[in-house]
Amino acid sequence: LFISFEGIDGSGKSTQARLLAEHLRSTGREVVLTREPGGSPGAEEIRALVLQGDPERWSAETELLLFTAARRDHLERTIRPALARGATVICDRFADSTRMYQGLSRGDLRGAVDTLHALMIGVEPDLTLLIDMDPEAALARAKARATAEERFEDFGLPLQQKMRAGFLALAAEFSGRFRIVDGNRAPEAVAQDVRAALQAQA
Ligand code: C5P
Repeated sequence: LFISFEGIDGSGKSTQARLLAEHLRSTGREVVLTREPGGSPGAEEIRALVLQGDPERWSAETELLLFTAARRDHLERTIRPALARGATVICDRFADSTRMYQGLSRGDLRGAVDTLHALMIGVEPDLTLLIDMDPEAALARAKARATAEERFEDFGLPLQQKMRAGFLALAAEFSGRFRIVDGNRAPEAVAQDVRAALQAQA
């Protein structure tokens, strides 16, 4: 089973991915908790290339190619082997983040994102949990924990609102695999809804 978590920066999706992994492990399942960009040694190197240093170093197009290369490596080295041995894969961001960040926010590249995805990736998660969160609260949270090492782009509230709307539109576009969870609550309450969404899907 391949599960992804998506949401705007500060939505709490990384916490929810970890809580679901802990829950499933407690039931005896093998879980591989991984993330994008990154998730394999090569893809983590590409992550550093893109997210550390000058945010203007790469164009949106080059960034799309780098993230697609990272995803291909992640798929080959981490995701496919785990799925092949029957593990549950929980991924903090996957291709939907590229549809949003490179396709909508950094550039107007959705067509190129889809073409590259069809050519080089070709798989979608079985279940995608969108942690939907108030843009203003999420932005405050993301700013509070921003580190010097990795890029955190404070695009401001209008873009954060556009991203939230974009994720909701994506959930409607891929309604078969998306479940929207209200992230504006305590982590344990959100985690309960995440578990319920997984049970309903199984
Ligand atoms: O999920 P995480 O906080 O690790 O993501 C780090 C940053 O990477 C995000 O703030 C986002 O700006 C960027 N990102 C991106 N394109 C992606 C995935 C993440 O620009 N496809």
